[in-house]
Parts: sequence; C-alpha cells; structure tokens
Amino acid sequence: MKSGGHATNRGFSSTRGVQISLARFNTFKVNRNAQNVELGPSLLWDDVYERLDPYGVTVIGGRFPGVGVGGLILGGGR
Ligand SMILES: Cc1cc2nc3c(=O)[nH]c(=O)nc-3n(C[C@H](O)[C@H](O)[C@H](O)COP(=O)(O)OP(=O)(O)OC[C@H]3O[C@@H](n4cnc5c(N)ncnc54)[C@H](O)[C@@H]3O)c2cc1C
Repeated sequence: MKSGGHATNRGFSSTRGVQISLARFNTFKVNRNAQNVELGPSLLWDDVYERLDPYGVTVIGGRFPGVGVGGLILGGGR
C-alpha cells in the first residue's frame, strides 16, 4: 500500500510485487459546521498544514516534510 510514499525502503511502500497506490484518494474537505476536516490518505502533512492555515485551524501530524497522512495515521513503516 502506498499513501504518501515517504517510506521508500524496499518492502515498505516500495515493492517488487503488486503495489496499490492511493494517490487519487486526496480528499481535502473542511466542514466548518461539524468542526472537522476530511483528509485523503495520499495527502502530505506539510501540504495539509498549509491548506488549513487560511481556516485558522491545524492538526497534529508528521513534522518531517513529505510524510503522508495514511502511513502516519496507521503508524506504518516504523
Ligand atoms: C526521514 C524520515 C522522517 C520521518 N519523520 C517523521 C515525523 O516527523 N513524524 C512521524 O510521525 N513520522 C515520521 N516518519 C515515519 C513516517 O510517519 C512513516 O514512514 C509513515 O508511514 C509515512 O507515511 P506515508 O503515507 O508517506 O507512508 P507510505 O510510504 O505510503 O507507507 C508506509 C507504510 O504504511 C503502509 N500503508 C500506507 N498507507 C496504508 C493504508 N492506507 N493501509 C494500509 N497500509 C498502509 C505502507 O504499505 C507502508 O508499509 C519519518 C520517516 C522517515 C523515513
């Protein structure tokens, strides 16, 4: 499975077998009334912070540039 694709080590999100890329699952939806945000797994945290900034909200995610939403939330690749 590949979300952000930050874990480039062989056998992590890179593989010699079948790879399922979630690249098109890139939803970014701010629901002001419900006070929540929908994020697709392929988004990168640094982009998420930047896109949330105009709304005056933030979220706790990865600190290092290029880390994806899906992998980090699942604790993948550690
Ligand atoms: C240099 C470096 C810096 C890092 N810095 C940080 C940091 O600052 N903070 C932090 O918390 N972590 C950090 N990490 C770890 C990082 O959180 C994980 O590597 C995370 O899994 C990356 O997310 P990704 O979506 O880009 O992963 P990917 O590379 O897409 O996937 C990582 C692993 O998770 C699996 N996976 C991904 N998406 C799914 C899914 N939807 N369902 C099932 N399995 C899935 C993949 O198969 C793979 O094994 C760092 C890692 C590196 C190498």
